Amino acid sequence: MTENTTDNLNIILPHQIRITEIQTHDIRFPTSLEDLGTDAVHIDCDYSATYVKIFTDHPKLVGVGLTFTIGKGNDLCAACIDFFKPFILNKTIADLENKMHSIWRQCTNHSQLRWMGPEKGVVHLAVAALFNGIWDLISKYHNKPLWKYIIELNTNDLLDKLSFTYLDDAISRSEAFVILENKKRDVAFSKKNIIKNGFPCYTTAAGWLGYSDEKMTKLIKNALANGWTHFKMKVGQDINRDIKRLELVRKLIGPNNILMIDANQVWSVHESIEYINKLKKFDLYFVEEPTNPDDVLGFRKIKDAVPEVNLATGEMCQNRIMFKQFLENGSLDFCQIDSCRMASLNEIIPIMLLASKLNIPLIPHAGGVGLCEYVQHLNIINDLIITSNDIRLSEYAESCAEHIENPAIISNGHYVTPLKAGYSAIIKQKSLEDYNFPSGKYWKSVL
Ligand SMILES: [Mg+2]
Repeated sequence: MTENTTDNLNIILPHQIRITEIQTHDIRFPTSLEDLGTDAVHIDCDYSATYVKIFTDHPKLVGVGLTFTIGKGNDLCAACIDFFKPFILNKTIADLENKMHSIWRQCTNHSQLRWMGPEKGVVHLAVAALFNGIWDLISKYHNKPLWKYIIELNTNDLLDKLSFTYLDDAISRSEAFVILENKKRDVAFSKKNIIKNGFPCYTTAAGWLGYSDEKMTKLIKNALANGWTHFKMKVGQDINRDIKRLELVRKLIGPNNILMIDANQVWSVHESIEYINKLKKFDLYFVEEPTNPDDVLGFRKIKDAVPEVNLATGEMCQNRIMFKQFLENGSLDFCQIDSCRMASLNEIIPIMLLASKLNIPLIPHAGGVGLCEYVQHLNIINDLIITSNDIRLSEYAESCAEHIENPAIISNGHYVTPLKAGYSAIIKQKSLEDYNFPSGKYWKSVL
């Protein structure tokens, strides 16, 4: 399996390097033109990124972070980041590392902005972009890929950076400490394995709802030829069409490959039970987001009514507190954390730890802009130092990779372990210029 080479800044960087400037960019790609990302409720996605650049007084050290949106509203996230700049500007790398949690709480618990959330929606997406950039910056400073920086941190240093606020009734810091320390005993062996073999993933790219049967058939055949064994299809616009499509997909992939479906929240609880009963004959590995992403009790009712079918959710689970409820209530079977909806690793890792405590497998959400690049790090962190669950799987949906300088690499249905310094997901300079909204070259030509 191909490996990336490790970046080397070839400089010794003092810990007193300061943050000098933070730039935000509203970047939108016109993916609605090709029906990319279409599902039961999102019919015209323009895959977008609120993109943050964090400059330091060292010209070679720049952190980049993003959150993912699907077009309109991306400007709101960008504007929101401006409110957080005073908490970050002029801080040193040492400040960011040593006071990470208090800075994160200044943002997530801002005394006025919290009225807009708290810890959800636009404000939380903005924190995600900013802190994805801060983690990128710190790991670049240490000249390590993010996953390596995290797994090599002293356990207490890592826990100091995370937020267990409102989680401590479900998992205590000492429980988290024990999970990490126990798992770290095998870390050297696991690291070699994951660098050699990568991390398994499934593809969503063939199953967008706006695709014709012909296009879907062609994409599935290509995917099979490239070694994919796990496929996810979108459903939820019309149950009879869903049945016909799944008949076709099952025929194409055969009885032994894995099939899962995603309804993107379109059904009520009653409809979910009725339709899952009609679709379960296709041997579904899981049904994703059958109903509203906040309906913890509704998910549980569906599970109780159709216990033989697994449920997955999380890409629109707005924060760690909501995940706590899904996990503790047994309302999901697969925990699909999202790297850009949750406010970065600060609350993602605590949820991974809680899922590990409850022995619930993690299958992160990916696709969009930058999500595949981010989750490859999260998968490795979870696999090497957190979970003991046997299920190892992640989503992959190739999209906008042509705009990413260092896109996730897939080989035979596996993410190839990234070895360059940072948290990946750097958008090419030309793409930043062309697709800046609304003043970039592309948007000026069509608006
Ligand atoms: Mg989904």
